[in-house]
Amino acid sequence: MSRIAVISDIHANLVALHAVMRNIQRRRIDAIVCLGDIVGYGPEPAECIALVRSHCSLSIRGNHEDALLDPSTLSGFNGAARMAIAYQRRVLGPTDLSFLQSLPPSFTIERRVHAVHDSPVPSERAGGYLRSTGDAARAFRGLDEPVCLVGHTHVPRFFSTNIAADGGAVEPSQVSLFAPDTGRDGFGDAFELVEGDRCIVNPGSVGQPRDGDPRASFAVLDLGRGLVEYHRVAYDIDEAARRSHAAGLPVHLAERLAVGA
Ligand code: ZN
Repeated sequence: MSRIAVISDIHANLVALHAVMRNIQRRRIDAIVCLGDIVGYGPEPAECIALVRSHCSLSIRGNHEDALLDPSTLSGFNGAARMAIAYQRRVLGPTDLSFLQSLPPSFTIERRVHAVHDSPVPSERAGGYLRSTGDAARAFRGLDEPVCLVGHTHVPRFFSTNIAADGGAVEPSQVSLFAPDTGRDGFGDAFELVEGDRCIVNPGSVGQPRDGDPRASFAVLDLGRGLVEYHRVAYDIDEAARRSHAAGLPVHLAERLAVGA
């Protein structure tokens, strides 16, 4: 696996996922990996699960998969998120549920890339968001591999440090944080994987971006060239909103798609 497309936080938004898959298929990609939250919020969880099963080599179980499978983990969810989970429990069949059940909490590729939904530090799991250099500094302490993939925040970010895995505690001041600047053509920044450095890559969200840019977001990890590329893909948000309304989901969930929040 040299060029890996990284998708995350699809949230049952099939219109967005189709647009991203079409974009990925036009690129030279060896594998697609998914960082979890295939379900939650949106109207088409079964269709999204089917696409992930057929297209992704690896996938992780996110906190919305946990909430769907185990209602006792719903405590941190707001009303709209709970309603979406309840709707999805009604529309998903046993095969879908057992697929979600089978997903691991993390995976590692070639001992170089660790992938997890929210944070590589176990104590930061279950609700922790990796947003700041302080969050990243704590995450780097729990990370042995040079590259870590995370989702969960729905905000594309690139964190890096030149402190080695065995170099002791990482301070926030020793972490660089970059917000990819993705132009109107959807082709964004590329960040270099500097030899000896470690980085944390958040590809943003396919189905519910929260950085003010409503376009679907994903990343390409190019291990051969030592680069991470960030991409945005415009999709038919009106159609996604129409499907959300038709499923009877809270209006707020469709409205936020249009503003990327
Ligand atoms: Zn999510």
